[in-house]
Amino acid sequence: MRIDVLTLFPEMFESPLSHSILKRAREAGIVDIALTNIRDFATDSYRKVDDKPYGGGPGMVMMCAPVFAAFEHVAALHPAPPRTILLTPQGRPFTQSLARDLSTAERLLLIAGRYEGFDERIRIGLNAEQISIGDYVLSGGELPALIVIDAVVRLLPGALGDADSTAEESFSEGLLEYPHYTRPETFRGMKVPEILLSGDHGKVARWRRQQRLERTRTYRPDLLPPDKP
Ligand code: SAM
Repeated sequence: MRIDVLTLFPEMFESPLSHSILKRAREAGIVDIALTNIRDFATDSYRKVDDKPYGGGPGMVMMCAPVFAAFEHVAALHPAPPRTILLTPQGRPFTQSLARDLSTAERLLLIAGRYEGFDERIRIGLNAEQISIGDYVLSGGELPALIVIDAVVRLLPGALGDADSTAEESFSEGLLEYPHYTRPETFRGMKVPEILLSGDHGKVARWRRQQRLERTRTYRPDLLPPDKP
């Protein structure tokens, strides 16, 4: 997969993209991630990328010209047409199923906003999908873009060591994951459930399934269909 990011703060991406699974996936050629600074496409000598809102009001708005110029430059760098995404709190909520859907794309192009957000003509003119990472407002789209990248890349074939490890994770099949335990068997009086020590794989699988249902009912009943609360 190829992922392009348009941002005013490419440095914010360096550390998260240089560790653990994202680092390994990039090194293994599973994903190619390229960062482009929108400010490099400003058209005036002050490298201006934002301006006052028409109609008045607080803050500044990201201007069309630098974003369109950056988009057109980057879109032409790679043969696959990108699935273009604006990160915005007004977007479709980001979920595991949307991450799975995005993980099937050959190419993503993420655009991170700043200030009061984008001139509306950026959304219209680029025909971009809008994605929100949750019902709260952050200062910029860099962290949301990194969240989307992380959730998508770990679903790409070969990105995780164990091919099955996303199959029963939280939100797959609409359920939370079962609880995990590791050594020691007893810690501060708290024991590992006997069944996990039994060596009976069938019983363990049934227990885990039941735990997934119970946890989902307790912590996230909204995930269950209305007839199974
Ligand atoms: N004025 C905008 C509004 O009220 O809808 C919020 C702008 S926010 C301060 C600046 C940028 O941060 C946005 O353009 C977007 O790229 C990013 N952002 C903030 N919260 C976000 C969220 N929950 N999901 C995705 N992006 C977000």
